[in-house]
Amino acid sequence: MTSVEKSANALRDIINNSPNIVFFGGAGVSTESNIPDFRSENGLFTATQRYGYPPEQLLSRTFFDNNPELFFQYYKENLIHPDAKPNGAHLALAALEQQGKLRAVITQNVDGLHQAAGSHNVLELHGTNHAHYCVNCQNSYTLGYAQDTANCEIFVPKCSKCGATVRPGIVLYEEALDENVMQAAVEAISAADCVIVGGTSLMVYPAAGLLRYFKGRNLVLINRTQTPYDNQANLVIRDSIAEVLALAIG
Ligand code: ZN
Repeated sequence: MTSVEKSANALRDIINNSPNIVFFGGAGVSTESNIPDFRSENGLFTATQRYGYPPEQLLSRTFFDNNPELFFQYYKENLIHPDAKPNGAHLALAALEQQGKLRAVITQNVDGLHQAAGSHNVLELHGTNHAHYCVNCQNSYTLGYAQDTANCEIFVPKCSKCGATVRPGIVLYEEALDENVMQAAVEAISAADCVIVGGTSLMVYPAAGLLRYFKGRNLVLINRTQTPYDNQANLVIRDSIAEVLALAIG
């Protein structure tokens, strides 16, 4: 039996005995759909080399307000991946929700791939790049509108009603997370008897803090590298998250 098969078997046993599962995912879930992690070392290097600033600065509210052209250039070239498709992890989680066992997907990603795979209860802690809105009149716009250069002045999308800047529905650095989304995430984790964490090192706020609300039986961590919660987990898996979830659930 291969390592990934062993991991999947152990995970399947836990899933079979857990009626209320919550999945908590980070960038590692989407990297297997070829969406690079902009917070990774490589993402940091690319941003600094190409745009002259680290991602935390490029994606900050101050930068958006003061330098919208470069903000949108970075955003469009690095956070929008129109060709990305859901991978085995997204699809397996959608199937598990369909079976009535997975109650919520909590994600730090903004790419909408869980919904594309068919998941319904998706709590997007950092918002989504599929929704855009005017900073002045709040009118909603699609991702397509923001991408269409006909609606843009040097990368910056403008509102067709009032002419103000149209911004992405992602939470920028310096901005607070949506309280309703956070509250729903806390409630889901508090009620879960199993939390599967995938593709995050659990170092970034609010990921680490949210797990403190978990009172259930089984904590599963699927991540390539160590996390601060490894010693509290019932099962730690280092294999590909798409492969493991597809084998365990599919
Ligand atoms: Zn407007």
